Order: sequence, then structure tokens, then C-alpha cells
Amino acid sequence: MTKWLERVAAGSNRHNRPQPSVSQSGQAPERGRGQAMIDLHGVTKTYETNAGPFLALKGIDLQVYPGEFVAVVGRSGSGKSTLINVFTGIDHPTDGEVVVAGRVLGQLDEGQMAEWRGRHMGIVFQFFQLLPTLTIIENVMLPMDLCQVYKADERRKRALHLLEQVGIADDAAKFPAAVSGGHQQRAAIARALANDPPIVVADEPTGNLDSKTAETVFHLFESLVAGGKTILMVTHDAELAGRAPRILTLADGEIVDEVVRKPAKTGNGENVC
Ligand code: ADP
Ligand code: MG
Repeated sequence: MTKWLERVAAGSNRHNRPQPSVSQSGQAPERGRGQAMIDLHGVTKTYETNAGPFLALKGIDLQVYPGEFVAVVGRSGSGKSTLINVFTGIDHPTDGEVVVAGRVLGQLDEGQMAEWRGRHMGIVFQFFQLLPTLTIIENVMLPMDLCQVYKADERRKRALHLLEQVGIADDAAKFPAAVSGGHQQRAAIARALANDPPIVVADEPTGNLDSKTAETVFHLFESLVAGGKTILMVTHDAELAGRAPRILTLADGEIVDEVVRKPAKTGNGENVC
């Protein structure tokens, strides 16, 4: 285990899978109860390569419960993006079952999947994937236009509000190429929140941000979790990951370690994170 993870573990309940999770010992009431928001059973992913089949995910079992904030860490090539692609329905698993918000993803065709994903998941991609021919605000409005969760006359105002939240309202009318990578990243985060989805999935959301902006984004995620959203964040930033309530480590397509931070107690006995 790396040094930073040891520090996290020092103030945490640490479990090497498949030992019982904190929830099962009753300390984290939101976990282990009710229906998982993200539910993966025996998920494998094999890529066909010139050198033959490559097993990128080796039978992942993972349950993420509503309101959890999960950080996923692991070296480059460990399978983090593949895992995200599989449970967001962007890619199909080779084997196993993916159930998200009670929906078996394998049962949806491509069109249904896109519509369902637009309403239920906000995805911050590792390389932003903003549309270059749309302005920043139009990029943020796009998911709203596609899913029509918000009325047409509300969408621009909402998009601007989201851009304010991530601190780039001044960039609203610019095209992605005219702003820095950090601002494109923030626009991608605003876009992920466009339809107010219950699940936010972020692949290296702070990878292109300076530490102060990364901190702002982390606080934004924390406030979203406090408001009931479920967040899964892949990150290389060990310090940031160490502050998430639950940290999973992926290596060679397997979850090899899990840390669940013990909730701190307030004076009146309430749990706080
Ligand atoms: P991470 O996000 O942790 O860096 P990835 O999920 O992108 O890792 O990749 C996991 C492994 O699968 C890597 O070895 C990568 O080279 C391989 N891989 C990813 N996508 C493909 C693909 N489309 N075809 C073949 N191999 C792939
Ligand atoms: Mg990746």
C-alpha cells in the first residue's frame, strides 16, 4: 500500500476485499442497505488486440449505494476508464451484469441507453469531449436539449448558473478551443450536471486543473453528495482521493484494495464525514 493510503487507513476502517464492509458492521448506514445505485456482478471486459485477447477487467463485483462518494485509484492501464465505460453503458462488458439505478443495462438498445444515460448519469470524460463547434454554454445546454428534462426557456439560465458554479461564466460565449484546458474541464463538469442526474461519474476530473481549482471542484462534488447525489471519481490525485469517504484501488483489472473512512462523530453523536 502506498504511503498516502496508509495515512488514510490509519484513520479509517480498511478492508482487503472480500472482507465485510463497514456498512455490514453498521457504522455507515447508507451502505449495504437497500438497492445499490451501481451494481456490478462478475464483470469482465476482454479487448481483442493484434497480440490476442486482452483481459482488462477480471470479474468485478462492486456495489455503490445512493449518496456514496467513491474515489477509484490505480496506475495507468489498470482498467479505470474501462470500468467507467462499462457501467455507464458506453461499452458492453464481455461477461457479467451491470445494473444501474435498478436498470439492467444489457437490456437497453443503443438509443434507449443514450436517453437513459442522459437522464441518470452525468459523465465527465478524461479528455472533456466538448463539441468544438458549439460555444461553452451551448455544450452545457446540449444534454438538456437532448433529454428535455428542463423546459426550453429554462435551459440557458440553468447552464449559466452551472458555469457560475464552476467559475467560468465569463467563458459562456467562447468556443472550447478559445479557453484553457482547465476551463474546458470545468465546462465538462458543468455539462455533466446539466440534467441534474442522480449519478455523477468523473474520469480524472481534476487532471487538468491547478490545485486551487481542483479544490473547488472537490468541494462542489462534496456538496453534490451532501445533496444526495452518488459520485464515482477516478483520480490520480492521491491527496484528493484520500479525502473521499470510500477509496477503491484497481490493479490489472481487479479491485485489490478498499478503504472506507470512518465517519467522524459530532458532540451530539451525529455522524459527519
Ligand atoms: P486506465 O484508465 O486505468 O488507465 P484503461 O481502462 O484505459 O486503463 O485500460 C486498461 C487496459 O486495457 C490497458 O492495458 C489498455 O491498454 C487496454 N485497453 C483499453 N482500451 C482498449 C481498447 N479499445 N483496445 C485494446 N486495449 C485496450
Ligand atoms: Mg483512464
